Amino acid sequence: MFFLRHFCSSFFIFVNCILLSLASQADTVDPQLYIQKHAQAFHIWVSDFKKQALSKGIPQTTLDAAFKDITLDPQVIRLDNTQPEFSRPVWEYLAGATAQGQVNIGKKNLNEQQAVLTKIAQSYQVDPEIIVAIWGMESGYGANTGKSNVFRSLATLAYEGRRANFWKQELMAALSIVQAGDRKVTDLTGSWAGAMGQTQFMPSTFLRFAVDFDGDGKRNIWTSKADALASTANYLKHYGWKYQIPWGMEVKLPANFNYQLADGIQQKTVAQWKALGVRGFITIDSKLDQEIATLFVPAGHKGAAFLLLDNFRVIMRYNNSTAYALAISLLADQFKGKANVQSSWPTEDRPLSRSERVEMQEILNGLGYNAGSTDGIIGINTRQAIQAFQIDYSLIPDSYASITLLDALRAATKAAITQ
Ligand code: CA
Repeated sequence: MFFLRHFCSSFFIFVNCILLSLASQADTVDPQLYIQKHAQAFHIWVSDFKKQALSKGIPQTTLDAAFKDITLDPQVIRLDNTQPEFSRPVWEYLAGATAQGQVNIGKKNLNEQQAVLTKIAQSYQVDPEIIVAIWGMESGYGANTGKSNVFRSLATLAYEGRRANFWKQELMAALSIVQAGDRKVTDLTGSWAGAMGQTQFMPSTFLRFAVDFDGDGKRNIWTSKADALASTANYLKHYGWKYQIPWGMEVKLPANFNYQLADGIQQKTVAQWKALGVRGFITIDSKLDQEIATLFVPAGHKGAAFLLLDNFRVIMRYNNSTAYALAISLLADQFKGKANVQSSWPTEDRPLSRSERVEMQEILNGLGYNAGSTDGIIGINTRQAIQAFQIDYSLIPDSYASITLLDALRAATKAAITQ
């Protein structure tokens, strides 16, 4: 999860967070050249870090073991310097994550772990389906926990310098895990960005939230399913999970709905949304009327709409991506026999590539809408600029950065030039 969070600083970069597999932009850094050039400086950096860790009480023997023969990791350098050009549309991502095959595997795991999940649900007041959906998304039910040496990954990221303090703190936390006796140095494995075990916890998250549920005295999110599942439950409980309350639901919006409300931010009670004509595909239970909800259209007004309740925001604490949280939510619903997304998606109106997003921001700025820096990241400024443009040009103001929108912007620029 946190491996993705590294790329997902904004609530709104919901599509762009999932794209490492689609990375196509030529790498700007040659990992081998980088490593050759930096070998000596990295060696000095490690010595310096070890001194800092020693002063914080980590024993020399642990430090020597953790950093034995350590070198920069070329895979980390490569992945950390790759910016994806093409965004995978949210509907493709959701279709893959919630396909029937995935639902079947999840149900099988849910059944197999039923006894421990029942105990976990009692202890933490967190629904088993959501725990299992996260387990599946994070590590394929424990099949993909990552084989990288966490010390090497984190030291490489910390040395590289972007958000160096964040990575240094995680590196220090990784040492503390060994110090606490939970895991041996050689067994501290994870993703290339340091996310560990079946829960894909970063080391600092492990220290705060991992629990020993099977009672063997060690918090083991790598090979103990009980510990991994309970640790996820503990995390969700901490961030306010509401037991047996839905994450939200897919909804239908009335004709001429004001899409300025569907920004995923403005909060109203479910009853207030209902009063605005928002309807569920199944009648929304009146016991949810006083729950706080936001309305979200991940692919604009031509795609599905969702009411998102507090539990959705809790799932986003696990990974700050709306697409991720929707995938988890829809998967968990299907474990319960509920339906997948029923609305159609605007497959003809694809999201923009990175260079197209930059072009969009340049045009918006050129036309006097403040889209902020032209970095290709669709944050709050860009969304507001899109919406202002849509209002001025009598388009439906859903803030969706699509190819249709870019065409409209290009036409508006042309018109402005020829005037
Ligand atoms: Ca344990």
